[in-house]
Amino acid sequence: MNVADSERMAGLLKKIGYTLTEDADRADLILINTCCVRGTAEDKVFGQIGRFKSLKREKPSLILGVAGCMAQKEGENLIKRAPHIDFVLGTGQSSEVARVVQSLERERKHFIDTSNVSGEIPTEVFPLRGGQVSTFVPIMYGCNNFCTYCIVPYVRGRERSRKPEEIFAEVKQAVAEGFKEITLLGQNVNSYSGGMTFAELLTAVDKIDGVKRLRFMTSHPKDLSDELIAAIAGGKNICEHIHLPVQYGSDKILKRMNRVYTVEKYLKLVEKIRKAIPNLSLTTDLIVGFPGETEEDFLETLDFLRAVKFDAAFTFIYSKRSGTPAATFDNQIDDETKHRRLDELMKVQNAISLEKNLALKNSVVEVLVEGASKTDDKIFMGRTRSNKLILFEHGNEQAGDLIKVKITQAQTWLLKGKII
Ligand code: SF4
Repeated sequence: MNVADSERMAGLLKKIGYTLTEDADRADLILINTCCVRGTAEDKVFGQIGRFKSLKREKPSLILGVAGCMAQKEGENLIKRAPHIDFVLGTGQSSEVARVVQSLERERKHFIDTSNVSGEIPTEVFPLRGGQVSTFVPIMYGCNNFCTYCIVPYVRGRERSRKPEEIFAEVKQAVAEGFKEITLLGQNVNSYSGGMTFAELLTAVDKIDGVKRLRFMTSHPKDLSDELIAAIAGGKNICEHIHLPVQYGSDKILKRMNRVYTVEKYLKLVEKIRKAIPNLSLTTDLIVGFPGETEEDFLETLDFLRAVKFDAAFTFIYSKRSGTPAATFDNQIDDETKHRRLDELMKVQNAISLEKNLALKNSVVEVLVEGASKTDDKIFMGRTRSNKLILFEHGNEQAGDLIKVKITQAQTWLLKGKII
């Protein structure tokens, strides 16, 4: 979501004459778009703000701004802590970025606006998209779920859905720019309420000419409907991949997290989805070290992982976020236990991911070519429909081509193959 927001702000700044640079030393404007979902993300931002202090000293005309979730959460505290920041823009005000920068070009004084966390979604957007093959299209902002560990509803406000016609127009615009793969984005896409259901929206986007692949993120298990499962199963270019964050594998902790489903309900949902979509790739998010987690809860979670067999899991250590209910819960878990549990969890999941990937050996998959790999320009990389990264020897392919690749090697996080 932050990538998509950054692209939108970059597009607005382009309209007033700014161009992107990777070189901070040459920049006239530095905008840090922040995340505060975990403590480590916040620490990194403070490190960056500190590094830019000497740049500001050398070049007083440089404008330094902070936007996004941490700007929303911290507001003027950021400027108190680092007065060399020129402006702080909350999540609901990001579409104001060009106006704020222009006013600072005229007159330099601190500017802070975090006033409307559930601000109106701009109807016209001009994203300056990164990449060349895949892109994000937000369909809604905010979240109403209030999971007890999560800061998102406080820094991104309540759910607001974009109108379908605005989404269709943006998808068409992205396709016209050459993008082949669209990912529809929202904190919980299943509760989309822009005048049609999310399943209807997905089916309608699937029919747009030039959308070669369609994905979505993220789904809350409580809202994933039969209608959506049928839409994926019957879709033309909707990829057979669902990211379905479970967060934990014991009912006691799920209840304390306010996730509103039980392990049994989640397992039944997975069974239903797998029955309807046989080639499904299923991924998840998991948190270890949540307050009150016992060894028994943790072992239950390992058993849960072995039962579901996710293709991959993004695993995190619980990060205490002030302002959330869980930050005040008793029985916070010590760091050593959290790290030990994370290691064990990853060991179990990595073995499952490897087993799932090994089962794909010798099969032929459709791959969307992304371009040269990071380490060897003779090797290209791409993604399967199941969203697995695959490397293959380069022929005459171009980024954006859809090709067939036979899988010859499988690793935990990676497949290797030969073009056929
Ligand atoms: S559904 Fe996701 S974004 Fe919303 S509160 Fe829960 S974890 Fe946070």
